[in-house]
Amino acid sequence: MKAAVLSSPAAISNRPLRIQDVAAPELEPGHVLLRVRACGVCRTDLHIVEGELPVRHEALIPGHQIVGEIVGGGTAQLREGMRVGVSWIGGIDGTCWYCRHELENLCDAPTFTGYTVNGGYAECALARSDFVFPLPESLDNLHAAPLLCAGIIGFRSLRVAGVQHGERVGLFGFGASAHLVIAVLKSWKCQTYVSTRGESHRKLAASLGAEWVGSEQEKPPVELDRAITFAPSGDVVIAALSSLRKGGVLAINAIHLDRMPQFDYDRLLWGERQIRSVANMTRDDARDFLRIAAEIQLRPQVTVFPLDQANEALLALKNDAIDGAAVIVQ
Ligand SMILES: [Zn+2]
Ligand SMILES: [Zn+2]
Repeated sequence: MKAAVLSSPAAISNRPLRIQDVAAPELEPGHVLLRVRACGVCRTDLHIVEGELPVRHEALIPGHQIVGEIVGGGTAQLREGMRVGVSWIGGIDGTCWYCRHELENLCDAPTFTGYTVNGGYAECALARSDFVFPLPESLDNLHAAPLLCAGIIGFRSLRVAGVQHGERVGLFGFGASAHLVIAVLKSWKCQTYVSTRGESHRKLAASLGAEWVGSEQEKPPVELDRAITFAPSGDVVIAALSSLRKGGVLAINAIHLDRMPQFDYDRLLWGERQIRSVANMTRDDARDFLRIAAEIQLRPQVTVFPLDQANEALLALKNDAIDGAAVIVQ
């Protein structure tokens, strides 16, 4: 099968993914074999390809927002021909303290799709049967793909930040995840304040119903109940923190930050403000979000790249040149 393979991480401008023919995965017990129909591109893929996350798998096929059709290993519940999604969390041990306490997103021995095992930048992929999610009929392949990490982890960020209906919520950065989150916030009657670099990202935020839109230097005109940061930047975390009311919560939706700057405790964190990171996702997050996405008819804005152009898709993401989400199709 054709696949985009990472042999050694390097700056994306060096095009480290090689498009080549590799052996298709073989079906294993407890797994389904998928014919990949679309695979979303996530900032985590960029961190993996550029080596900001340590290498965990030799000759890796990245990609963890897989829309696939079951072509092997089907069961009564997961029939062959059925369309399912695969996300970042590809498996857990089920036995560690976190798994036994309904915190499977924090499992000590997790499997990460497209990182510790091969992912979906390929014609076929193998996935654990208990970690695939049947997809709503209403969403086609292209528009379902970005929901599978950008959407689900964005939704988890709302949970981690403790967002209540009707609150004032700040989104700092406006890429694939934020442009899906804003639709959920709208359905919850929240007011959304968006701070982001790039004129086209600001325009997209305004068109999707943001109450206020500003550049990354501008501060929202009101104190926020909750804030979520999406950029891999510690400076953005500080900007978001300085916008919170007392008792407000900041959720950092980033697997990697450039650094965490020193900041003034008395002014920024005192007053029971909280900073929390958002790590991975649970299967309940996935099921709940996919149900809500179908209910509110969430339709991502997508830019399509053929598999041959996987490097270019990641380069465009790095350069903030994509409004909404990038999706690779075979
Ligand atoms: Zn575990
Ligand atoms: Zn992701």
